[in-house]
Amino acid sequence: MKFGGTSVGSAQRMKDVSKLITSSGEPTFVVLSAMSGTTNSLVEISDYLYKKNPEGANNIINKLEQKYIKHINELYATEEYREMTAKFLREEFEYLRSFTKILFTSFEEKVILAQGEIISTNMVTNYLKECGIKACLLSALDFVRTDKNAEPDFNYIREHAKIQLEANPGYQIYITQGFICRNAYGEVDNLLRGGSDYTACLIGAALQTEEIQIWTDIDGMHNNDPRIVQNTKPVRQLYFEEAAELAYFGAKILHPTCIQPAKFAGVPVRLLNTMDPTAPGTIINNEMEHGTIKAVAAKDGITCIQIQSSRMLLAHGFLRKVFEIFESYKTSIDMVCTSEVGVSLTIDNTSHLTDILDELKQYGTVSVEKDMVIICVVGDLSTENVGFETLACEALKQIPVRMISYGGSNHNISYLVSKDDKQRTLQALSDTLFKD
Ligand code: ADP
Ligand code: ASP
Ligand code: MG
Repeated sequence: MKFGGTSVGSAQRMKDVSKLITSSGEPTFVVLSAMSGTTNSLVEISDYLYKKNPEGANNIINKLEQKYIKHINELYATEEYREMTAKFLREEFEYLRSFTKILFTSFEEKVILAQGEIISTNMVTNYLKECGIKACLLSALDFVRTDKNAEPDFNYIREHAKIQLEANPGYQIYITQGFICRNAYGEVDNLLRGGSDYTACLIGAALQTEEIQIWTDIDGMHNNDPRIVQNTKPVRQLYFEEAAELAYFGAKILHPTCIQPAKFAGVPVRLLNTMDPTAPGTIINNEMEHGTIKAVAAKDGITCIQIQSSRMLLAHGFLRKVFEIFESYKTSIDMVCTSEVGVSLTIDNTSHLTDILDELKQYGTVSVEKDMVIICVVGDLSTENVGFETLACEALKQIPVRMISYGGSNHNISYLVSKDDKQRTLQALSDTLFKD
């Protein structure tokens, strides 16, 4: 069971979560995020420290500490547990303050970002113990690791999660931090923002649990982004591939790559609502429902690059040369469209854009458009389902679409539009595809 920031966002929520964790009576592995807002504050503290402004950092640290003192006063019923947790917090905040006096690098930043999850898991474990529940807190830093490519090292995680469980037998509840890990060099690192979902899926897959439950603040995956589009509805079931595409293409409810380990291990993922625990949520499994379009998602911050070259006409090896340039800068490509005279593609990581453009200019005339959005329609888009792609295109008849990608998989059509057209594109798709 993984609980996100809002789910552990107050003392009352932590109490509710503790009830949910223990209600089944079954052995449960629990992954917790930092309390909502905390990781953002830690990012802000780091930002001040990068800018060599210790006073700015201390102001945020002090404010955060005040909030936590209030939370623990509300959370614990006994003086013993209140004081024990208060002592832990005092040490934590002193530790944070110690970073204002030393040289600050990305290594220190990662350590600071890890403290939100370290604090929340300690608070909940102490609360469970105060309630008389046998709970064991495991440090994710002891068994969640990434490799040299900054990808989770699944074999290491599987082996070391088991070692941790064997070293701590007999507990009903095991708790660990989401998001945080060590990298291939043993340094504290993380799985990027929203990474607690990824931790939960990696652990569920490693331990082959019955199910991976992602508990959040909404009743499952909606058929469009509820923050932007009106009248979205929960989707009750998704095929692994469909959920993976939606997560990768921007459905914020899931970390972009968290579905992969669950899919490979065949462990179903259930999205549930902490605020309404009896709501059915969404089940993600290996069943493909035929004949339906499931949902739409949008991925922001996309840059489109077009390379036009008359030399490409009938030339073989052109695409390889283009792709090799992106590969050499470790920049992955999301969408690709080709014609006889050129190729358009999109990237979201622009850290090497200038170098990439320089090299591409050997092969053709290059143009770039920033601030684009990929809109992704997901469902059963196999060729037997005649007419679905036409329906999606029909919905966009008023929208200037820059690129369309269809046929890459049986589950997805992607459209590239300008950021300014994002909202009306999403709404138009919802209005046409999910009328009833
Ligand atoms: P947590 O802190 O629990 O990880 P997140 O904020 O990361 O929660 O994710 C849940 C939020 O994702 C929801 O509150 C909702 O606003 C947003 N969201 C965006 N797209 C979708 C979608 N398609 N379905 C459901 N929620 C979505
Ligand atoms: N606390 C981290 C974040 O805010 C990880 C997570 O919540 O999933 O990004
Ligand atoms: Mg999240």
